[in-house]
Amino acid sequence: MNAATADFRSDTVTRPTEAMLRAMAAAPVGDDVLGDDPTVLRLEAILAERFGMESGLFCPSGTMTNQISVKVHTQPGDEVICSKLAHVYNYEGGGLAFNSGVQVRVGGDDYGRLSAAQAELLLQPMDNVHAAPTRLVVAENTSNKGGGTTIGLDALRELGGFARQHGLGYHLDGARLFNALVADREQASDYGQVFDSISICLSKGLGAPVGSVLLGSRDFINQARRIRKRLGGGMRQAGYLAAAGIYALDHNVERLAEDHLRAAALAKHVSNLPYVDALKPADTNMVLFRLKAGLDPRELLAHLDAQGIRLMAMDPFWLRAVLHYDVGEAEVHRLQEALSNWTA
Ligand SMILES: *Cc1c(COP(=O)(O)O)cnc(C)c1O
Repeated sequence: MNAATADFRSDTVTRPTEAMLRAMAAAPVGDDVLGDDPTVLRLEAILAERFGMESGLFCPSGTMTNQISVKVHTQPGDEVICSKLAHVYNYEGGGLAFNSGVQVRVGGDDYGRLSAAQAELLLQPMDNVHAAPTRLVVAENTSNKGGGTTIGLDALRELGGFARQHGLGYHLDGARLFNALVADREQASDYGQVFDSISICLSKGLGAPVGSVLLGSRDFINQARRIRKRLGGGMRQAGYLAAAGIYALDHNVERLAEDHLRAAALAKHVSNLPYVDALKPADTNMVLFRLKAGLDPRELLAHLDAQGIRLMAMDPFWLRAVLHYDVGEAEVHRLQEALSNWTA
């Protein structure tokens, strides 16, 4: 990949800016496994406070924060309810089975939404020994495979009401929660009222090179800390990485709105392409689209690649372009032109 590459595959491809690297280099550090890295403690405290949760736990990845959360919420043999498009179900390497020995029951729509009414249909009869006991509901905001869809606090609250009514845990995969907060103008602190646990990624649109934080009650995070250790996710002078997260929270949240504007413009362009058959809503920083039947998305990817432009295939049908701070106005124009020039 050269400097001229416009990389729309994911918002994880962002590289730290000079200023972020300086903040990392200047961070005071300790030993986070021994619990005394001041910068990690600060990042965890900042996010816990912002979301109205008691405690936080810094982890290497969002996969790990999700997997740890499910492990704390469940016992082997339990069942988890989530959207059929959920990252925990589709993109974590079978981790739910591997790490927690749980099974999954999925539903909802093609945009990553799972309403309380839809979840109700997935609930197992608790008094029937034939059924796996339902234990946990996982929501995802924004929904990645849904097209960066924002779910909205009202719907999430309603799903939480369902979870509470049946004594189920309620976890939020908030890998891109800041995109949702910015797009829907929501208050972070409201989220702590709704969920038992929240996973936040710093390495997506926020631009940190590494890191996710799991939020929950003090007791929940104490249990999570033991599991992080078991999974080998305890890092020592992790403050250098946490400093990137703090820098990202201070500098890169509001600018997510620019990515959203560019995604909306790109989606409009894509909707007019003669060879595109379907498009997801583009609520935030992603544009997911599908080619007309009979067309091979790999040929479009190769056409773009030849011009130094990269998109990602989500599956054999859907392509994804993600906006982030390393692809600006100029790159979006290049992409639009290259898409227009493809003769399917
Ligand atoms: C990226 C992502 C994660 C975590 O991914 P990591 O690469 O493990 O940090 C979790 N959930 C969603 C919805 C994601 O998009």
